[in-house]
Amino acid sequence: MKAVVIGSGPNGLAGAIELARAGLEVEVHEAESELGGGLSSSELTLPGFVHDVCSAIHPLGVASPAFRELELDVEWVHPDAPAAHPFDDGNALLLERDVESTARQLGADAAAYRSLIEPLVGAWEDLAPLLLGPHPVSPKALLVLRGRLHSLRAALSAARPLVESRFGSERTRAWLAGFAGHSMLPLERRPSAGFCLALLVLGHVVGWPFPRGGAQTFADALAARLREVGGDIHTGSPVDDLPAADVVLADVAPRELLRLAGGRFPDGYEGRLRAYRHGPGAFKVDWALDGPIPWQAEECARAGTVHLGGSFEEISASEWGAWSGRPAGKPFVLLAQTSLFDPSRVPEGKQAAWAYCHVPNDSSEDMMERIEAQVERFAPGFRELILARHTLGPAELQAHNRNLVGGDLNGGAMDLGQLLFRPARRLVPYRTPLRGVYLCSASTPPGGGVHGMCGYSAARVALKDLRAEASRYRRPRSSRP
Ligand SMILES: Cc1cc2nc3c(=O)[nH]c(=O)nc-3n(C[C@H](O)[C@H](O)[C@H](O)COP(=O)(O)OP(=O)(O)OC[C@H]3O[C@@H](n4cnc5c(N)ncnc54)[C@H](O)[C@@H]3O)c2cc1C
Repeated sequence: MKAVVIGSGPNGLAGAIELARAGLEVEVHEAESELGGGLSSSELTLPGFVHDVCSAIHPLGVASPAFRELELDVEWVHPDAPAAHPFDDGNALLLERDVESTARQLGADAAAYRSLIEPLVGAWEDLAPLLLGPHPVSPKALLVLRGRLHSLRAALSAARPLVESRFGSERTRAWLAGFAGHSMLPLERRPSAGFCLALLVLGHVVGWPFPRGGAQTFADALAARLREVGGDIHTGSPVDDLPAADVVLADVAPRELLRLAGGRFPDGYEGRLRAYRHGPGAFKVDWALDGPIPWQAEECARAGTVHLGGSFEEISASEWGAWSGRPAGKPFVLLAQTSLFDPSRVPEGKQAAWAYCHVPNDSSEDMMERIEAQVERFAPGFRELILARHTLGPAELQAHNRNLVGGDLNGGAMDLGQLLFRPARRLVPYRTPLRGVYLCSASTPPGGGVHGMCGYSAARVALKDLRAEASRYRRPRSSRP
């Protein structure tokens, strides 16, 4: 039995490994010259500075049931604290690994934080299958929701009502807005609160680590595991038509799937893929630095990720702008300083930093100055440390990886309508109407992020279909329908 996987992102590779482990002969075809899709690193600025081109921080990678069971050869680096949020007065709030040290910083909001987060942290093992899959979620996995409907309601709500109804301090609200901002949704839109809760809980349960040496080492470890189980990978091999194989897993955007299918889908499915919505894009900057970022709030140096947005209202305005077509004057910036904890990425005595903000899909606005102004605001003297910089706007991101449509890094907007039903309302979203052809990219559940669970889930559906077909074929002729 032969399987072809189109695209070598984390989902393509996870799906390919699952198929190869089941005994299929697997070939992966990757359009770009490097494998890994959103898992790649490169010397974007100066020789010796390794920058993550797309993803940098991988809580979902360590939490992923698919990757956990592979026991990959990746060395995870854990910063002292997952994330920090500096304020204009020179102080900061940190997400710490344990709930208590985090809650203690929140003053009068400490009890509200404990009561919201502790039950979710305690129930993580039960909740992970709902969040990450494998999808479609089994009825047994749904049973964990019994008695936890209040948590489900909170997770499905928008960040603003959740935060305003439970937390009194402006600082706590601003700090929480930073986590909700990862949703790339307006904070008034559901389920932005769910992203906030999931990222906080992941910080407490698994941390927000990153692979030593850069994201590419994670992709290379997946590729090595695939080769161990007999799979082949061809880079520089764009696919322009659906290949003939028993199973085709497409780690591609819905519109690319339409192109590959070349009119073979029924009108209804084709219409639904055409109606699929992409979310805001990203504008990214990487810096080679002469030293560590001089945070005014020194404790920011303990965190791998720093959220630069000041207040709740500023972050909310930035996300509304990106959603509704107006790039923010003061964008909410997500910054990673991985080399502080992993010196193998930079020449001795130097540092690097990675940052991006959300912009309207396909925006051509240059956000570099605005992003640097936000870093300088909380780290005066930052600009003087810049040795070189490299920027990637939505068009360049899409040119680097055609799945990043208009710079959308989640493979499609992750609002309530498209969270579970992606790319279309179907019981099993991975199956397409064409026999043996499955979509397995972040445009399927559970969506964006480096977890490989879209690929893993799609491969399991494909294997189940193959088994069902084989058992139909084995049945005596008289009992066949
Ligand atoms: C700037 C940025 C920052 C991010 N930060 C994080 C982060 O810190 N943590 C995190 O978890 N996630 C992050 N993400 C998101 C994450 O990278 C993606 O959600 C994830 O990579 C999606 O995986 P995928 O396998 O679905 O697709 P991708 O990783 O996009 O891979 C798809 C692959 O398919 C290939 N392909 C497409 N069409 C074809 C074709 N026709 N023929 C052959 N090959 C094809 C592409 O070239 C690509 O290599 C970030 C993304 C970006 C862009």
